[in-house]
Amino acid sequence: MAYNQRVSGPSIAMINASTRVCAVFGHPVRHSASPAMHNAALDALGLNWRYLAAAVHPDDLAAAIAGARAMRYLGVNLTVPHKVAALEMLEVVSAKARLLGAVNTIVFEARGPAGEWTPLGRNPEDDSGPLRSHGHNTDAVGLARSLKEDFQWSDLRGATVLLLGAGGAARAAALQLAEEGIARLFLVNRTAARAEELAGEVSTHFPALKITANLPGETVDLVVNATSLGLKPNDPAPLESEWLRTHRPARVYDMIYRPAETALLREAKNAGCRTANGLGMLLYQGAAALELWCGRPAPVEIMRAALQQHIYV
Ligand code: NDP
Repeated sequence: MAYNQRVSGPSIAMINASTRVCAVFGHPVRHSASPAMHNAALDALGLNWRYLAAAVHPDDLAAAIAGARAMRYLGVNLTVPHKVAALEMLEVVSAKARLLGAVNTIVFEARGPAGEWTPLGRNPEDDSGPLRSHGHNTDAVGLARSLKEDFQWSDLRGATVLLLGAGGAARAAALQLAEEGIARLFLVNRTAARAEELAGEVSTHFPALKITANLPGETVDLVVNATSLGLKPNDPAPLESEWLRTHRPARVYDMIYRPAETALLREAKNAGCRTANGLGMLLYQGAAALELWCGRPAPVEIMRAALQQHIYV
């Protein structure tokens, strides 16, 4: 939607002096589907909150976080390129975010009379007392929940997985899959040295997991694409179609959700594999962030419908 496009509807009329704010900071950020997803959820929950998107230059990230805290924003999501840099800009970082080396959700918390820290969103009328910024990472749990739902796969324990990529999303996926108890992980990346580095790092946290920085000779239970190859409409698949045809993995998951069907998913489907794109990961990282802010179950079906409408219609 263009900046000068007129917007109307009951939500706009509701904004008043009590309206509280959440936001996503990215650079660029205009592609983000998070405002559509979160504002639909906030309406459904009957909360007088709004979720905005702000294009924050990396040089201004610390100032933007400090500004959000000073204005008693309830929370902030971080997207590319801020997730790693933010680690050093927050007062508290969860063990998960520290392990993954990235923050995608900030919760602003207020200190109560007994010294306890409560998310501002659970008591938004409280506008006194000291605040702190608490960093979390919900990307990895979002992936796990999406894999389980999209493939009706309740337990990943013992699975063999081929993970493509070695960037931030691949790192989160590798560590989460290890935490889920998979038995074997194969890591492949365009820059092989980065796959080897990631393999070493995952091994230090999960020494029992067998990790190979190479394509598997046998088939696997799951292939996850965590590369950005596929984002452009004419991108080829990040895996040879011959490998897919001959090994026919049971499930192929592409973290990319726009386009809805990448070359990888198309070729995997043709090879007879079950497939899913990354929409569920986006949905469930958002649902987990919202639950951290407000302490209530996220209306996931409303959020899913808002995402589908925003991204695909
Ligand atoms: P990074 O920039 O950290 O990593 C990019 C990865 O893609 C690297 O492994 C890189 O390899 C690889 N890559 C880039 N271009 C190519 C290419 N032409 N051929 C082969 N490999 C390539 O990005 P992220 O890890 O943050 O994101 C990766 C993907 O995951 C993106 O598509 C992103 O949209 C998606 N994602 C989806 C989410 C969701 O909610 N569904 C959440 C987060 C990410 P190399 O090391 O050689 O450069």
